[in-house]
Amino acid sequence: MKTEDIQAIKALLATPKKIAIIPHRGPDGDAMGSTLALYHFLKKFNHEPTVIAPNEFPNFLAWLPGSETLKIFENETSLCTEILKESDLIFTLDFNALHRTGEMEHTLAQMNAPFIMIDHHQKPDDYAAYTYSDTSFGSTCEMIYNFIVFMDQKFALDKTIATCIYTGILTDSGSFRFPGTTGNTHRIIAELIDLGVENTQIPILLFDNNSFSRLQLLGRALQNMKVFRNYKTSYTTLTQTELDAFDYEKGDTEGIVNYGLSMKGIHFTAIFIENKDEKIIKISFRSQGSFDVNEFARMHFNGGGHQNAAGGKSTLSMEDTITKFEALLSNLNIQ
Ligand code: 5GP
Ligand code: MN
Repeated sequence: MKTEDIQAIKALLATPKKIAIIPHRGPDGDAMGSTLALYHFLKKFNHEPTVIAPNEFPNFLAWLPGSETLKIFENETSLCTEILKESDLIFTLDFNALHRTGEMEHTLAQMNAPFIMIDHHQKPDDYAAYTYSDTSFGSTCEMIYNFIVFMDQKFALDKTIATCIYTGILTDSGSFRFPGTTGNTHRIIAELIDLGVENTQIPILLFDNNSFSRLQLLGRALQNMKVFRNYKTSYTTLTQTELDAFDYEKGDTEGIVNYGLSMKGIHFTAIFIENKDEKIIKISFRSQGSFDVNEFARMHFNGGGHQNAAGGKSTLSMEDTITKFEALLSNLNIQ
């Protein structure tokens, strides 16, 4: 983060402020962890923070401290708009372009308060007065830790803040295994554990809370998987009918995409999930090694993300989306 930005933000935070904190639509562990960590941090200094998520967060994150204070823009649009209008400052965390907030984009774009972006996605848009963007970090939560250090407030870290930060680092790093996980990441993790983070409980809360129907949905996704060994590629699909048949709840498809990559010799995978309400096919891409799924998602599926984990969408039917995807494979250089 630029020294002059650190000084400017310190000055802004020197007196109590009304502060809105925004994660991206479909908030994940890093988006929820980073926004709630910042929420608890700002509260300690007599600010009045509110986390406003564009839409609902998945159930498996509901145990995060402070999640009960979250406002959902989609459910309480006029209240959230009022809070935004009254805000002196707006933090946007874990995303790089206002359209990642969906419908909320139009409201955010009209706000006059200065924005502070903290994010680790590529090619950040230029909407914020202060931008702390760095793709070398595996998570926004790790950057929130740094931000607190930059503010000279490391002493303010406590078990609650540490728990939120730990959660985002854990989920966005695929349990400390994705590129971007550094010695520094582990040094921070060690400090968080020393602050009392329950590092053996958190993975249980996050990952061992499957319903039977969620496991069956996973089973269906695994059965639907197609493998193209010559392209080192696999993909799977879930239609709305299949989601309905297995009592789909938000969050149930989280992580399923990674199974495609767990096969020996497969370095590129995707999951296509039909969303009848939004009339789209939501896609997640994952790769191992040099194949850049961020670029692929940007170029062909109206999306983006990181080199090894990205997402996008298609307004074609499931069948046509798959045809398009398969046709692209022969031109890719998957090592
Ligand atoms: P996931 O597949 O877990 O939803 O997302 C993987 C990564 O890609 C995350 O960093 C996420 O923010 C990003 N991502 C997912 N969907 C989209 C999208 O539609 N557009 C862009 N720009 N990024 C996305
Ligand atoms: Mn993230």
